[in-house]
Amino acid sequence: TSFKGEESGDRTPRQTPGVLYSLAAPTPVSSPQLIGWSSEMASEMDLSYPDRHDLEILAGNKVTPIMKPYAACYAGHQFGQWAGQLGDGRAITLGELDSKKGILEVQLKGAGPTVYSRRADGRAVLRSSVREYLMSEAMYHLNVPTTRALSLVTTGEKVLRDMFYDGNPAYEPGAIVTRIAPSFLRFGNFEILAAQKDRSQMQELIDWSIQRFSPHIEGENKVLDWFKEIVTKTAHLMVEWHRVGFVHGVMNTDNMSILGLTIDYGPFSFLDNYDPEFTPNTTDLPGRRYAFGNQASVAYWNLGRLANAISILLPDTEELEEALGSYEDEFWNSYFSMMGKKLGLDTVNKEDKELITRFEKTLTSVQPDMTLFYRSLISVPDLADTDPVSHFEACFYNKLDPSEEKEFRDLIRDYLTRMRKNSIPGNISEEIMKRNNPRIILRNYLLHEAAEKLEKGDDSLFLSLQEALKVPYSDKGFEELTGKRPAWAEKKAGCSMLSCSS
Ligand code: AMP
Ligand code: MG
Ligand code: MG
Repeated sequence: TSFKGEESGDRTPRQTPGVLYSLAAPTPVSSPQLIGWSSEMASEMDLSYPDRHDLEILAGNKVTPIMKPYAACYAGHQFGQWAGQLGDGRAITLGELDSKKGILEVQLKGAGPTVYSRRADGRAVLRSSVREYLMSEAMYHLNVPTTRALSLVTTGEKVLRDMFYDGNPAYEPGAIVTRIAPSFLRFGNFEILAAQKDRSQMQELIDWSIQRFSPHIEGENKVLDWFKEIVTKTAHLMVEWHRVGFVHGVMNTDNMSILGLTIDYGPFSFLDNYDPEFTPNTTDLPGRRYAFGNQASVAYWNLGRLANAISILLPDTEELEEALGSYEDEFWNSYFSMMGKKLGLDTVNKEDKELITRFEKTLTSVQPDMTLFYRSLISVPDLADTDPVSHFEACFYNKLDPSEEKEFRDLIRDYLTRMRKNSIPGNISEEIMKRNNPRIILRNYLLHEAAEKLEKGDDSLFLSLQEALKVPYSDKGFEELTGKRPAWAEKKAGCSMLSCSS
């Protein structure tokens, strides 16, 4: 391609108008150590277990002649505000690799400053790297579209972070995650070109994206069709997050993948108690812009920013608005079909939609643990003389008051009535439910404990999470990881909510 880039390798922080990337070599580290290796990702890439030489590459200490490391230039809207140029402040693309699954981009995250690092150090701490490494692989096994992780390496060096929640600066061990995706292109890569009124590179970047990722798109409406596809993929991603109870925490437009992948794992969380107003990001208070229940509409708002950016190529904004408007139907159709599977329904008709809406409402008022609730729903006894409330007892964080109990009991009774009319056999619907309702999720307190133990040289919890995340839908095993969030973790920093500091 003829994308313009800065080839000098100069990493002085500055604006880089007119270019899509800047060459940036990783900064070497003193004593790299391999902590995590995703053998599934590696086998897709035909890579064997890393030796000393490979480890140097994963740590940013060695760049082979076929690599051309660069940092991408992008902009973004952060918390609803235009933030201007951002760029890869600490992600360095080493290059692309041809694999069984197509071409894959290989990035080091935390490998030192780039021209886009602004006042920050380009490094990442172990706790946040553990989170990205484990969680991206967990999402893959949950069947949620996501970027992947290949390796986790500690650098042997300390990183200074202002620990947001106790106010004291703290030195923490540094780490690097090697992450993988067909592309890390974000909405922000297009927004910066629009801000610079760079129609020719906008056209080129979109043409390249179509050719690489959507070669089936042809004809004169290519740009519009490409945008529509992003609308569909993004709606699907929001539904998948809803299915597993994932809250991203920083849905800025620079963290939105044009491939509809979960990208940039920061202060994310799974829901524990079913609270749509829950945001895991301490920086997101009190607005709760990125709360669980807001994600679908924020995605729509973000798509609006992308539409606005590409409108420099599309004089007919009416068509673009129509394409953007298709989001709502895409989302709701996909949502109801997903919820039908969570509930084990054969089909979803108008009454079923009402039932699904009641599920949302009642779960919001009684706030059971989302994961435990849906797994318990698979085996709810359909017996007239059994009280459904007691079956779900282990799911609740708080005792229900009588009116909540009634609301909950009525919902479960109506659900059982509906299930008696299901046209598919019970064991089939049970299978569908088991494949759509995870039993094992990586709760923040577990990730927090795993990172704390790693810092003390104990990798036992990290390794069991790494095994457990491969079988999120299994019936058995890893019992110690499947309980609800313990009471001590509710208010403890890093165990429920997190800062952006990473
Ligand atoms: P994020 O909030 O992680 O999506 O990051 C927003 C912007 O800040 C991006 O340009 C990042 O590359 C940059 N950034 C975040 N943390 C660091 C860091 N430690 N060093 C350099 N740049 C960073
Ligand atoms: Mg980001
Ligand atoms: Mg981040």
